[in-house]
Amino acid sequence: MVGIANASSIAYGCARAFRTQGADLALTYLNEKALPFVEPLRDELDAELFLPCDLRIDGMIDAVFDEISRRWGRLDFLLHSVAFAPREDLQGRLTDCSRDGFLMAMDISCHTFIRMARLAEPLMADGGTLFTMTYHGAERVVDHYNVMGPVKAALESTVRYLAAELGPRGIRVHAISPGPIRTRAASGIDRFDALMEQAAARAPARQLVGIEDVGAVTAFLASDAARRMTGGTIYVDAGYNIMA
Ligand code: NAD
Repeated sequence: MVGIANASSIAYGCARAFRTQGADLALTYLNEKALPFVEPLRDELDAELFLPCDLRIDGMIDAVFDEISRRWGRLDFLLHSVAFAPREDLQGRLTDCSRDGFLMAMDISCHTFIRMARLAEPLMADGGTLFTMTYHGAERVVDHYNVMGPVKAALESTVRYLAAELGPRGIRVHAISPGPIRTRAASGIDRFDALMEQAAARAPARQLVGIEDVGAVTAFLASDAARRMTGGTIYVDAGYNIMA
């Protein structure tokens, strides 16, 4: 599972849900700076594997999969819960987004999922499930989501193509689309408070979503009960996406 920064991370909510279902976990942390925040969560989750992984650095994700292959020889599910765009590109208009900023956002937030899927494929000989996190700003223009809109749109399309390619091998692929949740990544989005207020006021359920809600749905999708579902964007947003 890639994407736990701290106890507010969506990936942590997912890890807890998987652990509750009895899964053995392999967690990654970004770097030494992140370690003090992630290590206590590793202990709490009793994760068997705990490895550094900065997706910008060539070879690090390969090392993670090598270790999984050596220790377990197989993998049932994979969670990619990672997004990044340089602040100046994220907080400006898409019209003004730099080429380098766009490529970096696309590489870290989208192409890394493709790389991880390729590495997971041989470990999922008995089938498995791949997850990534997206947002409604992929489908509709959400104020201040800017460059991440087209990046998440590419990610959702990537999910459909991977699902089609890997489906015959019993590998299912899902994009989970949570409503706004206060996390570190979310703090990079301008006027995020207003987005949360609007979600709470307008969602049919009139509620915000928590990381435990996202975890519960993700764990369900990894289970046998969801074996005929693949390729979709699954909203966990208290129904907000249906509103005009
Ligand atoms: P978060 O800050 O807790 O998690 C983001 C993670 O991305 C961090 O763990 C960070 O270390 C990791 N990351 C960034 N660059 C990386 C790199 N180069 N290598 C490895 N890891 C890297 O925030 P979050 O909100 O839990 O974000 C997780 C995912 O959920 C993201 O894809 C985000 O777009 C998506 N999402 C978030 C919300 C929200 O409102 N918080 C809503 C919908 C979707």
